[in-house]
Amino acid sequence: MKLKIKSALLLLICIHMISCHKENLVEDTEEIAITQETDFETVSIAESTAFFKELKNSKAFKEGNDIELNVDLSTIEQLPISDSEEQLNIITAQTKFKNVNSYVLQIKIDGELQTVLLNEVPTEKEAGDTADRSRRFTGHRVMTNLRGTVLNSYMYKGGNLLGEIRLRSYALPRSTCIGIACGIRLKEVVLTAPARTPKYAPPRPGIMGIHQFWRSNNNYSSMGQAYANYYRKKAQKAVYDKIDSDGLKGKERCVHELLNKYAKHETNSFLMELLEKFRGKSEFDIEIVSKNVVVNRDRNTGLVREVNGNTSLPLGSRTIKIEISSNQSRNKSTLDLARTIIHEYVHAEMFRKLNTSAPTSGDLDFRETYTRYKSGIFRASPQHNTMADLYLKEMAATLRSFHQQKLRADYNFLSDNGKISMDPLYDALAWQGLRNEGLETELWNTVPAGRKRVLEAALREHLPALTKRCPN
Ligand SMILES: [Zn+2]
Repeated sequence: MKLKIKSALLLLICIHMISCHKENLVEDTEEIAITQETDFETVSIAESTAFFKELKNSKAFKEGNDIELNVDLSTIEQLPISDSEEQLNIITAQTKFKNVNSYVLQIKIDGELQTVLLNEVPTEKEAGDTADRSRRFTGHRVMTNLRGTVLNSYMYKGGNLLGEIRLRSYALPRSTCIGIACGIRLKEVVLTAPARTPKYAPPRPGIMGIHQFWRSNNNYSSMGQAYANYYRKKAQKAVYDKIDSDGLKGKERCVHELLNKYAKHETNSFLMELLEKFRGKSEFDIEIVSKNVVVNRDRNTGLVREVNGNTSLPLGSRTIKIEISSNQSRNKSTLDLARTIIHEYVHAEMFRKLNTSAPTSGDLDFRETYTRYKSGIFRASPQHNTMADLYLKEMAATLRSFHQQKLRADYNFLSDNGKISMDPLYDALAWQGLRNEGLETELWNTVPAGRKRVLEAALREHLPALTKRCPN
């Protein structure tokens, strides 16, 4: 194929140019060139048509079409995709949401037919024809599956992508189901004012930066947004291949697996994003092991004490090592052990951010905060101060959704089926290691006394009642 030859040529030129200057950049360049080789291909109009005829007649669709999806096959179009010779099928569709313009997108990725629904929820009225309106679109573009379950959501202004909306930032009901087909209407998921400010995250690199289709005039890839969910899953698989957890035993192993299962199903999960940094050809690998007793030397007093876990990057090594204490894990609740593992993974990510030779702007922002803590005289380590400053909320939110989803019986029991808020417990757990045993972080020192009492009370009340069993 012409494109493949072009990419290969580009790759050769890059390697040649770079090997004359800087050896260590060869790997990065290689990756960029390879992503230009497309892994997607056109679906014929006949195949698309057959797919929807079959879908329409299927029992599952007839009974489960809660969003009242109706695909207008007479509108099928094949749109060119930039930097490729392939085309994307796009078909106009209607749902029960009258203010939403929906389109079915179809393409084959890695040989498999991938179908998503692109829903445009305008927040401002635009005049002009369809193509024109799309180019100046202001509102949300929500990618769902054909049943209406939200996969990804993006915010636009005047046709420009502002960023991705993290659905977890919204005050969603206590349910794992966030689809528009499972009781929560699209309107509520997307348009209701969120309890907290939604986060707009820049789309990921890779396919995000390359292929445009359709009436898009922003700097990011519309293909990447449409199929972000697919590519995320693909990246996730690569992540788990990168983490060596063979040395984990017993309960630690079980909880680690449960956390991984959780992260795999949460497309926007904090944990997944954390681990994704170690995917593919990343500079650093992770090895996580069980160890009978893990000790740490206090940086202020020099005293050695037993700890829950420890993360280190030996000088000159490319493998970040996490040790989890079997001795401490034994009597711990499953949720608390998950907390320890997440805490250590955050340390691992900090080692990566501090040591990477190709820092992103996010990595540089982190280094700024870290340096501020490092240059001051504080009781807690710069990593712990930075963790409290930047990751505390995400850690608590991860514990909450992990508890609700993977330790359901435990959660239902403690919260009286969701009637009692467990949020103070998740916050208190996230603080563990950042507030106690003479390691008070700077942020902990600013927490009002009343709030500290609430957190202490949550630990006293709930910690002993949490299950110690790891379900598998
Ligand atoms: Zn720590």
